[in-house]
Amino acid sequence: MKQSELFTKTLREAPADEQSYNARALIQGGFINKEMAGVYDFLPLGLRVLNKIIAIIREEINGIGGQETFLASLQNPELWKKTNRWDDAVYDVWFKTKLKNDTELGLATTHEEPLTNLLRRHISSYKDLPKSIYHFQTKFRNETRAKSGLMRLREFIMKDAYSFHADEEDLNDYYEKMKAAYTNIFKRAGLGHLTYLTFASGGTFSKYSHEFQALTSAGEDIIYICEKCRVALNREIIEDVQHKCTECGNDKLKEEKAVEVGNIFKLKTKYSRPLGLVFMDEEGVSKDVVMGCYGIGPQRLMGTVVETLHDEKGIIWPEAIAPFRAHLLSLNKNDEAKKIYDDLSAAGVEVLFDDRELTAGEKFADADLIGIPYRIVVSEKSIKAGGVEVKKRNEKEAKIVETKDIVAVLKQ
Ligand code: ATP
Ligand code: MG
Repeated sequence: MKQSELFTKTLREAPADEQSYNARALIQGGFINKEMAGVYDFLPLGLRVLNKIIAIIREEINGIGGQETFLASLQNPELWKKTNRWDDAVYDVWFKTKLKNDTELGLATTHEEPLTNLLRRHISSYKDLPKSIYHFQTKFRNETRAKSGLMRLREFIMKDAYSFHADEEDLNDYYEKMKAAYTNIFKRAGLGHLTYLTFASGGTFSKYSHEFQALTSAGEDIIYICEKCRVALNREIIEDVQHKCTECGNDKLKEEKAVEVGNIFKLKTKYSRPLGLVFMDEEGVSKDVVMGCYGIGPQRLMGTVVETLHDEKGIIWPEAIAPFRAHLLSLNKNDEAKKIYDDLSAAGVEVLFDDRELTAGEKFADADLIGIPYRIVVSEKSIKAGGVEVKKRNEKEAKIVETKDIVAVLKQ
């Protein structure tokens, strides 16, 4: 894409009304726009990153048998009354609305109730189990503190997956598969080195649930990590358990700030029972379906990447989720650069081509701010030196690459 045609502009200064680094950098770079606290629009650069994160998640969840759906975001209170979650005193994050005739509706905070209910029409026998169903869909939550940019939104996309099983053993097996898929997702998105499988409180029926916590000073959670086993305990559960690593018994755990980028939870029959999702087992006995649920916030993940992977000049995107692979900067050499742009594009390399009438300094500053992994500079100087200058965003030194080799160097 030609940068001269991109409708978004970078800002000289980060917005003064944002407290969090991720919101400041993403607004300054033209990735997102703030509508109000906790509510952001995704602009072309930001949407490209978000879509790449979503594609990674989709691939991993499809890989363990997930079937993608798209459930509605307007929800029927009757289902939520059956599970006692319509009551604001019990569940306090609702945005509620009304039809013209005063009938109440809810804006989705999560989707256990409608999905469990709809499966009553599709699951009747043990032969219909197991099933794994997910979607990427908008959630609305009336969060009290929405000061962390993309990390705590009032309107956000969640990948929520739900699994349905005949017994707990089968749930346990699938839960382990999901754990492995989540580990891959965070690794592929560039957060593997910062993400810890964290024991958290389990709610009603299970002893523990697991959170995937990424270390960042911008996080709102406190966790205690065992560096050797790469697992952690959430402070919330620390009262119930010994202050010891669950794997090796190490009692010298390190306190860190972190953000929950995903979680996995054994619901068992918490929702199937009140909503009446049952099946006939092999003996013809009616039983409650056993469930698990698994969430990830792709926008929170994106915000966490920005918080943790940047320097004083701007964002440093991991290659797998960068808006483009290469940022081609023409310093008054648009004809030569256009040829390289065409060659790279033809080879399937995603390039942002800075063909604007700006100074070299302005172009370099924008490139650092936007944070695309490879910067290619075409200038009088590079041409004299035999080609183009290539620099990785996370490295200091540039090297000269012959123009004929540029496609080979940039291709994955
Ligand atoms: P938190 O304790 O941080 O509020 P949560 O326990 O409410 O998180 P879940 O309801 O389990 O989160 O949601 C599943 C996933 O959705 C989370 O792991 C997170 O990645 C994402 N998520 C939750 N709340 C938000 C939010 N307000 N903004 C952006 N993403 C969110
Ligand atoms: Mg929450």
